[in-house]
Amino acid sequence: MKAAAFDYTAPRTVPEALDALGDTRRTAQVLAGGQSLILEMHLRRGGPDLVVDINRVAELDHMRVNGGALQVGALVRHRVFESPQAVPGALGRLLSLAVVNIAHPPIRARGTMVGSLAWAHPASEWCAVAVALDADIVLQASGGTRVVAARDFFHGPHLTARHPRELITSVRFPLLGDDTGVGFVEHRRTHFSFAQVAVAATLTVRDGVIGDARIGLANCAGSPLRARAAEEALIGAEAGPFTAGCRLPGDHPFTRAGRIAAERDAAPLAEPYADVEYRRQAIAVVVRRTLCQAADGWSPGGPGGPQGDHR
Ligand SMILES: Cc1cc2nc3c(=O)[nH]c(=O)nc-3n(C[C@H](O)[C@H](O)[C@H](O)COP(=O)(O)OP(=O)(O)OC[C@H]3O[C@@H](n4cnc5c(N)ncnc54)[C@H](O)[C@@H]3O)c2cc1C
Repeated sequence: MKAAAFDYTAPRTVPEALDALGDTRRTAQVLAGGQSLILEMHLRRGGPDLVVDINRVAELDHMRVNGGALQVGALVRHRVFESPQAVPGALGRLLSLAVVNIAHPPIRARGTMVGSLAWAHPASEWCAVAVALDADIVLQASGGTRVVAARDFFHGPHLTARHPRELITSVRFPLLGDDTGVGFVEHRRTHFSFAQVAVAATLTVRDGVIGDARIGLANCAGSPLRARAAEEALIGAEAGPFTAGCRLPGDHPFTRAGRIAAERDAAPLAEPYADVEYRRQAIAVVVRRTLCQAADGWSPGGPGGPQGDHR
């Protein structure tokens, strides 16, 4: 099917983009990478009257470290994060572990991190990372700027706290300390399917004991969520040693955390290829594996760093 007729504008500045989005006579939508919007328009699912193409707004194409946080502008493409060196320290490693799970290279070359947050697909990798790290989402409208924490931003599948007249100008992630290990693992049905379960985790370990744990889950409910009960169960637990391949006893803290995430934190729905019981089992396993990866990256002598495409 072809998209219905629409008007198009390509502003060159943020105020021009906000003017276009503020036009109350029309439903306007932002075009960033177009990897989700164009498809939706061709399927005629809620297409806009006016497409506001932000690709010429140079000020949105920035990435900078400022006051202990990484700020990523609305035009930064997924593929930038494929190199762990693109961002300092453990945060760079986490983003590089996550990004290789998003679609495939041509889509990663066009699609944007901020576009993924705006689109709020329940299986989005960036949404899992954003809730795990409690990222700040910066929204601008002609009346001013506001910042919404990721935990308050996602309201359901494709539903967010963003007002239709607002532009997301950037997202801010806290940098991670050197004593923080990171993991990102997902389970998918086929190579190019969206994740059935995706998990982002960080572990901060002092003297072998876990002092802080963050676990973000994607496609485990209608919105990305923090597995807070599982995180609490990890605090004070010993991080290792664990066996290669993450085969752990049932009473290991990571195994327990996986079960808690699956049973108490997640609220998976049945899908055509996975009933709820299957999905809970998958969540428990993927959480355990992600924690192993985070602990392995932390331990002195562990491989650390990105470990390639996990599909
Ligand atoms: C075959 C295929 C496989 C895919 N696989 C995955 C996957 O595994 N994981 C995954 O996460 N994604 C996947 N995607 C989606 C892809 O990551 C998109 O790039 C992403 O969801 C949207 O980013 P975009 O920049 O392309 O946004 P667009 O398509 O341009 O926009 C998406 C929506 O967000 C809005 N929007 C975009 N930017 C802003 C902004 N700055 N402010 C306000 N609103 C904004 C748009 O108006 C639109 O409603 C896949 C896409 C395809 C086609």
